[in-house]
Amino acid sequence: MNSIQQIRDQFPILQRRVYDRQLVYLDNTATSQTPRSVVDAIESVYFNTKANVHRGVHTLSQEATDLQESTRRHVARYINAPSAEQIIFTRGTTEAINLVASSYGSMFENGDEIILTVMEHHANIVPWQLLQRTKRLSIKVLPINERGELRLDLLPSLITERTRFIAVTHVSNVLGTINPIKEIIALAHRHQIPVLVDGAQASPHLTIDVQDLDADFYVFSAHKMYGPTGVGVLYGRRSLLQMMPPYQGGGEMIEHVSFERTTFAALPFKFEAGTPDFVGIAAFDKALDFIENIGIEQIAAHEQQLLQYATERMMEIPGMRIFGIAPHKSAVISFLIGNAHHYDTGMLLDKLGIAVRTGHHCAQPLMTALGIEGTVRASFAIYNTTQEVDQFITALNRIAPMLNN
Ligand code: PMP
Repeated sequence: MNSIQQIRDQFPILQRRVYDRQLVYLDNTATSQTPRSVVDAIESVYFNTKANVHRGVHTLSQEATDLQESTRRHVARYINAPSAEQIIFTRGTTEAINLVASSYGSMFENGDEIILTVMEHHANIVPWQLLQRTKRLSIKVLPINERGELRLDLLPSLITERTRFIAVTHVSNVLGTINPIKEIIALAHRHQIPVLVDGAQASPHLTIDVQDLDADFYVFSAHKMYGPTGVGVLYGRRSLLQMMPPYQGGGEMIEHVSFERTTFAALPFKFEAGTPDFVGIAAFDKALDFIENIGIEQIAAHEQQLLQYATERMMEIPGMRIFGIAPHKSAVISFLIGNAHHYDTGMLLDKLGIAVRTGHHCAQPLMTALGIEGTVRASFAIYNTTQEVDQFITALNRIAPMLNN
């Protein structure tokens, strides 16, 4: 494995100074930083091969198409999808969930029920609520226990003969909890219920095998995986994708158009209307290379070490409250110091060069369940170091007395 310093050297932004201090970037859950190889790939497409994909016979168009389709095959390998046709490029996790809710959801009927969990990101709540504008659907919500784990024991009691769908996050962006997705899918499948897994916080940290999970839909965003913004992935079970109507209409997604009757392209293009972010998609390939060159297990092991060390040191701080203490969790620490407002903590940390996220983290129902308005969230990636954790702890120790007064 490369040393962490060698890895850090690939991320020019980590050299930045903020308020004349070395930046400590602990907001990786919101978006990760991007290595030079990914940015070089973006430049290379713009300077060497930029041409619209799938439309041209000319060399540049063919090269641009090859780059895009090669990333599609790479993504399929990355999550062990049975075929590249089941990989649909979207703008991100949010658009992927909207696609499924809008398209698969159009087949729901009045009186149908879907199950979500209380720890979902708004991206996995609101698209399902939008369906309620046109259909009488009920949304049932699986709660969590005091450690921030899903109450799996309650799931069977939420399932009825009207349950049509379950959508659940693989890893919580607030609590860090890694959910027992395989078990949830197995239970759902015993009742013929398809499951969408929001993998936005899992794909940068865990090995994803959609066949082993038996997931019906699995979605994630490139920008959280050291990749470019504007690119996301929807993996879907072939039989479901085939039966689903298109999400958006336009170029690229048709077979033949007339004013009388239009027929649609085959998978995956049926769901990719318009010009995709083919530059970003080409660069995403390099982000996957970056992860694979280090190894997702090594990334996870390093992050787990940081998580454990940071948690232990944080617990020494008087008044520290950590939200999400599942034994099986990803490197995300949501916390509050005493009764201090999360925003004040985040602002003071920023003045010390430390970037953390504050607020409800697009998970307001979870905040309500926890009885709080928001948290401060520190989250780790492969390029973070123990020394940065020490800087973070020193900063917390410095600001805690100010906040508790
Ligand atoms: N789901 C989860 C669990 C997330 O953490 C996020 C991003 N914070 C999203 C969905 C939405 O991802 P995007 O904004 O990239 O569409």
